[in-house]
Amino acid sequence: MKTYKDFDNYQKEFPDAKGYFGKYGGAYLDEMLVPAFEEISHSYQEICHSAQFINDLRRIRREFQGRPTPVYHCERLSKKFSACQIYLKREDLNHTGAHKLNHCMGEALLAKFIGKKKIIAETGAGQHGVALATAAAYFGLECDIYMGEVDIAKQHPNVIRMKMLGANVVPVTHGLKTLKEAVDAAFEAYCREYETAIYCIGSVVGPHPFPLMVRDFQNVVGVEAKEQFVQMTGILPDAVCAAVGGGSNSIGMFGAFLNEPVDIIGVEPLGRGSNIGDHAASMTFGTEGLIHGFKTITLQDENGEPLPVYSIASGLDYPGVGPEHAYLRECGRVNYEAVTDEEAMVAFFLLSRLEGIIPALESSHAVAYAIKYAKEHPTGSILVNLSGRGDKDIDFVYEKYGDGTELLKKHGYEV
Ligand SMILES: *Cc1c(COP(=O)(O)O)cnc(C)c1O
Repeated sequence: MKTYKDFDNYQKEFPDAKGYFGKYGGAYLDEMLVPAFEEISHSYQEICHSAQFINDLRRIRREFQGRPTPVYHCERLSKKFSACQIYLKREDLNHTGAHKLNHCMGEALLAKFIGKKKIIAETGAGQHGVALATAAAYFGLECDIYMGEVDIAKQHPNVIRMKMLGANVVPVTHGLKTLKEAVDAAFEAYCREYETAIYCIGSVVGPHPFPLMVRDFQNVVGVEAKEQFVQMTGILPDAVCAAVGGGSNSIGMFGAFLNEPVDIIGVEPLGRGSNIGDHAASMTFGTEGLIHGFKTITLQDENGEPLPVYSIASGLDYPGVGPEHAYLRECGRVNYEAVTDEEAMVAFFLLSRLEGIIPALESSHAVAYAIKYAKEHPTGSILVNLSGRGDKDIDFVYEKYGDGTELLKKHGYEV
C-alpha cells in the first residue's frame, strides 16, 4: 500500500512508455489502428512540451473557456450537517457548462498542430459531442460525431447544439444503436481517415496515449483548486472528492493532491441498487478485464463482454473506469464509494435551494458523498469537483421529481 509520500514524482513515472499504470492501461488495438495511435503518441510527446503549444492552451483557457474557475465555500449547505465545511471547484462555470471542454480544447489544439483537418468522436448522451463540436468551431476543423440512432432520438437538444456548431452528426444504425456501436463506428471511420483526421476520446479511457493526454489536459482543475483553496483558508482540505464515470474530471481534480496529506475519494453511481443492470459502479462490482482497447476494472460477463449499466446520470453509465483509477485504488491512494440515484437527487435539490447552484446529475453524486462525509466528520473540510451545471437535466428532473419538495421531506429536510 502506498501513501501520499510515495507520490512526489508520480505523474512523471506513470503511465510508463507503453501506457501502463501498474498492470492497467496499455493499447490493445486492431492492427490497422496501430500506426495511427503511434502517430498521436509521438506527436503528443513532441508537442506537449513546446512553448507555443503551452502558451496557446493557456490563452484559450483564459480567454475562451473562462479559466480559472473559482472555488466556492458552501456556507448554507455546510451549516445543515456539522461544522465540516463543504467547498466546490466550479467546473460548471467553464464555457459549455462542464469540465469536458478542458480536454476537448487540448485535443483539438493537438489536431491543429499536427495539421489534421478533421476531428472524429462518438458520443452517448451528447455531452462529449457538444464539447468537441465547440472546439472544432473554435479551430475551424471539420467534426464528425458518431451517435447511435436511439441516443439521437433521446438527446434531441444536444443533437441540435452539435448541428448549430457546424458538426456532422452521423447516425449509427446497427446493433442496439447506442454508445457501443457508436464507438465501433468512430474507430472504423478513424481507420479510413487517419491521414487527415484525428480521433478524440471523451474521458481518461481508451488505448494509450489517451488516458495520459486527457489527464494532462484536466490537470489544471486540481492545480488551480489547490492554490485557490490554500489562498482562501490557509490550509489544505482534509478530503477531495469527484464523480467517476470514465474518470476525467476526477483524475483532473486528484492529480495535484496525490502527494499531499489529503483523503481522496472517487464517487461511483450505484443507480437503483446492486443488481446487474441497475448501476454502473465498476470499482465496487467489477473485475479485471479488457474494454475498448485497454486493461482496467470493468463490469463484464463470463465471456468478457461488457454488462448492461444504468445511472440516472447518463455521463456516468460506463461499464469501466480509466486505467489510472484502477491503479490508484489498487495501491490504496484513492478510495471509491458508491452513491445511489436517490442520494444524488437529494444532493441536487439541496445544492439548488441552499446555494443557488443547479448541479449536473453526474456532479450531484460527488455532492451527495460530501454530505455523507460532513455527517460523519464533525470538523474539517471537503472540496468537491462540481464537474458541470444541471441545465441539461432540469426537464427530466422536473418530470420525475417536480421541484423536489416531496423528496426532501421524505429525507427529513424542511427547506
Ligand atoms: C461526462 C461527465 C462526467 C463523467 O465523465 P468523467 O470522465 O468521469 O469526468 C461527469 N460530469 C459531467 C458534468 C459530465 O458531463
